[in-house]
Amino acid sequence: MKLKFLGSGTSQGVPVIACHCEVCTSLNPKDRRFRSSALVTTDSGKKILIDCGPDFRMQMLENREEQIDAVLLTHEHNDHVIGLDDMRPLIFRNKKNIEIYCMKRVGDEIKSRFPYAFADVKYPGAPSFDLHEIQNRSFEILGTDISPIEVLHHRLPIFGYKIKDLAYITDASFITNEEKEKLKNLDFLIVNCIRKEDIHPAHFILPQVIDLFEELKPKKMYLTHISHHMGLHDDTEMELPDNMFLAYDGLEIDF
Ligand SMILES: [Zn+2]
Ligand SMILES: [Zn+2]
Ligand SMILES: [Zn+2]
Repeated sequence: MKLKFLGSGTSQGVPVIACHCEVCTSLNPKDRRFRSSALVTTDSGKKILIDCGPDFRMQMLENREEQIDAVLLTHEHNDHVIGLDDMRPLIFRNKKNIEIYCMKRVGDEIKSRFPYAFADVKYPGAPSFDLHEIQNRSFEILGTDISPIEVLHHRLPIFGYKIKDLAYITDASFITNEEKEKLKNLDFLIVNCIRKEDIHPAHFILPQVIDLFEELKPKKMYLTHISHHMGLHDDTEMELPDNMFLAYDGLEIDF
C-alpha cells in the first residue's frame, strides 16, 4: 500500500496570507504546505482519502489524481472537510455518490454544513454523499481493514486511523494510555506537530511528539499539520532525532 501526503500544513496553510517570515517566503517547495490530507492507495488500487480540506481541488490537480473511492474523516473542522463540495467532478463522472466514513458527530456536522448534498430533490449540479457511521472499533473499506484511534483535540474526541503497520493521527493534543497500546512498535507513525515550542491547547508541539516517539517506538515517525512557526523544513529536519522526519506535500510512504 501507499500513503501520499497531499497536504502537511496546519489550518491556515503555509505560506500564511500576508506573512513575510523566512518560512512563508522560502523558495523551497517543501516549505509550501497545503492543509493536511493523505491519500492511501490500497493493494487493489483503490484510493481512500483521509480528510478533504480547502486545498482538495489543487491537491488533486497538482498530483494528477483522478479517482477517490472513499473518504475517511478525522473530524469536522473546516481544514479537514470543507473541500467535500469539490468532489462534484468525480461524483458526476462516476454517476455515484461519494462514500464518507466518520463518527456520528462528524456526520451530523457534514449534514448541516452541506445540507444540499442530502436533499431528496437536489439542485442541479449539487454533490451527493453517503455517510457511513463508524465507532471506535475496526471496520473495512473496500477490503482494507482500518482501526480508529481515539485521540483528544483539546476537549474534542476525534479519530486517527491505523492501517496495517501505519497510523495517521492529526490534530491530537492528548492520547490515553489505552489508545497508545494500538500505536506501539509500528513501522510508521504519522502524528501532528504544529511548532517547536510554546504549548498549544489543541495540537502537539515538538517536545511532546519526541516523548511519544520514545514511548511508542515506531520504526519511523513523520510529523504533519505543521505551521510556519516550525521553521524551515531543511533546518528543522536536521534537528530531529534519527528516524523522525517532517512530512512534506507529495511525500509517499510504502507500507
Ligand atoms: Zn486541523
Ligand atoms: Zn510565516
Ligand atoms: Zn482540528
